[in-house]
Amino acid sequence: MSPTAGVIRRLDETVVNRIAAGEVIQRPANAIKEMIENCLDAKSTNIQVTVKEGGMKLIQIQDNGSGIRKEDLDIVCERFTTSKLQSFEDLSSISTYGFRGEALASISHVAHVTITTKTADGKCAYRASYADGKLKAPPKPCAGNQGTQISVEDLFYNISTRRKALKSASEEHARIVEVVSRYAIHNSGISFSVKKQGETMADVRTLSNATTVDNIRTVFGNAVSRELIEVGCEDAKLAFKMKGYVTNANYSMKKCIFLLFINARLVESSALKKAIETIYAAYLPKNTHPFLYLSLEIAPQNVDVNVHPTKHEVHFLHEEGIIERVQQHIESKLLGSNSSRMYFTQTLLPGVSISASEVVKPTSSSSAAAHKSGDKVYAHQMVRTDAREQKLDAFLQPLPKHQSFSVPKTREVVEQKDDKANPEHSTAETLSDLEMVDALDLISCVEESEIPTDNVEKSEASTSSISRKKRPRAESDVEMDETEKDRTVTAASAPRRRVINLTSILSLQKQVEDRAHKGLQDMLRNHSFVGCVNPQWTLAQYQTKLYLLNTTKLSEELFYQILIYDFGNFGIMRLSESAPIYELAMLALDSPESGWTEEDGPKEGLAEYIVQFLQKKSEMLKDYFSLEIDEGGNLTGLPLLLDNYIPPLEGLPMFILRLATEVNWDDEKECFESFSKECAMFFSIRKKYVLEESASSEDKDLDAPSWRWTTEHILYKAFRTHLLPRKEFAEDGSVLQLANLPDLYKVFERC
Ligand code: ADP
Ligand code: MG
Repeated sequence: MSPTAGVIRRLDETVVNRIAAGEVIQRPANAIKEMIENCLDAKSTNIQVTVKEGGMKLIQIQDNGSGIRKEDLDIVCERFTTSKLQSFEDLSSISTYGFRGEALASISHVAHVTITTKTADGKCAYRASYADGKLKAPPKPCAGNQGTQISVEDLFYNISTRRKALKSASEEHARIVEVVSRYAIHNSGISFSVKKQGETMADVRTLSNATTVDNIRTVFGNAVSRELIEVGCEDAKLAFKMKGYVTNANYSMKKCIFLLFINARLVESSALKKAIETIYAAYLPKNTHPFLYLSLEIAPQNVDVNVHPTKHEVHFLHEEGIIERVQQHIESKLLGSNSSRMYFTQTLLPGVSISASEVVKPTSSSSAAAHKSGDKVYAHQMVRTDAREQKLDAFLQPLPKHQSFSVPKTREVVEQKDDKANPEHSTAETLSDLEMVDALDLISCVEESEIPTDNVEKSEASTSSISRKKRPRAESDVEMDETEKDRTVTAASAPRRRVINLTSILSLQKQVEDRAHKGLQDMLRNHSFVGCVNPQWTLAQYQTKLYLLNTTKLSEELFYQILIYDFGNFGIMRLSESAPIYELAMLALDSPESGWTEEDGPKEGLAEYIVQFLQKKSEMLKDYFSLEIDEGGNLTGLPLLLDNYIPPLEGLPMFILRLATEVNWDDEKECFESFSKECAMFFSIRKKYVLEESASSEDKDLDAPSWRWTTEHILYKAFRTHLLPRKEFAEDGSVLQLANLPDLYKVFERC
């Protein structure tokens, strides 16, 4: 029996369309990719995706792009309608994503589509619904913001085979999140979000001001983002450009992640992937893979995007040549990063992994138990951390004379106006015309001159390195500490401490405690000082890790905290020669840092104003902050914040200017806070000033402690006991982890 021939019949047109649509849109993630590309074509800067049941029940994409004109709503969902291409020739130079006018048509053949859209010059928004590529009813006017919202409901309701081929809702959802996050990474500058309907938290959300690396961090986490190398090359002959980020040899994982964009379209190229993986094979442990994000721009006429309906796998002209160039470039980058691995790639602190929300009390001074008892310590975790062992300095320069562990003599010299000071000092050479009082001598001077002769009971002097030697006060808006009042102490040099009950100050203290980072505090408390890189940067070791610490930032915070915690109780550094505020203000206005322009009015007038203004505040400044200004408008004393520490005086003019311009004098709390910030900034150790100073005074003052000595023995000593480091320090680059011993072992293993 011969088989009977089947009768050929022409298929019903809607069935044809439906089958074709099922080819283009294979799953919710494809539909979303097409629609995101449309949003980007429409110049949107904010794209929000909401889905239900893995996109099978609902996909909704809202953008703020150009919108669709009302006249076009009739035909947008018909096949081969597009606003982006007019003739066949245009195909070769197309720069927008979509060009075939197929996506919306296909979607509308396999789902219920509703479009709400408003153009910039449209009077209102319009809403239209579609079935099988056709408008169901004339568009209805409605309210809406500029941009387009497209809802796709019940995907594949009319093709059960496609529906059945889909995976579980959660798997489809994962693919959707993947597509959206990849477009988000490629399109930094545009904010994206993707979430499940009804949930408030997005699965992924990127911000419009985030960088590509920020977005990679948001999506793939820190482990990837901190090991990235930036890559980029181009070749005019091959007519291509490439840029992106790839992980270095420190990073590896089970599966390769390869984000490839060609002419801004997410695509796949197995040939390119294979080529790059071959390079990594030489660097990474067996069966592990890198993370890669590459964006290629290839002359549009050389790319064949039409190879597959889903447009995923692409081929292009000069494919081999381009792949080889990209391969070479990545290999050279990888080699380069290998020799200087890790440095400065990392701004976060994986080593101090205690959660940032953990808060510490400032009073606790017990040494932190870094190793929990019972934890096994492996050989590669053991490190030499004896602070007495040699430090970096020892290898770099001859030991300075004063590198003993006794208290150093400060550089500036006392010269008390009333001649009570030690006469030897008056002949000593000075650094600048603002001679500062030797901190230690000063205290006694102040005490001699200011302590009333009557029998005031005195409290014990604190033994801490931060000055606790306080002035007594006669009049009192702040009461005396009861407990201290009762104590009679023999040390005549220790006046009692005022107790501050101002709510503004108490709340500022609370703020400091609330933003403290426990992990960083442990690190600072137990670190081993390694050496100074320069006045701004210092190396320290903690457990198996080497850190680079921003001394400027940390010291600024230290002085701020001293100002807030010792409020109203500072000693004074009296200037041996008073400094006219007018001159200081003029100096500051003359420097470009002040930002003075002619519009601000004549400098002389401003300087005069600053003198009068600060004079008005002088009583308060003296009482609370030990900043002394005399009746002639001269600065005569500065607060003594930390024993043996003199602020870089080159910053004094700016400090004075900023007191008048940056401090909010109207609100009590803000005044104390902003004053303390300015003062802390002035006191902090800074590269610029310290280096200028040491260059100019090299042979003048050999006995003066160097900034290196001060950094190690004054500042870092105070950080150990007195600083509550802010949480931000772990994230803003103030504390950088440079190396971790176990990671270094891994490097050696590979060698
Ligand atoms: P193509 O993108 O290939 O032109 P589509 O079917 O994806 O085809 O889209 C058809 C047309 O609908 C586009 O050319 C564009 O004019 C319009 N369109 C679709 N989505 C949007 C959107 N989000 N914003 C503005 N216009 C859009
Ligand atoms: Mg399109």
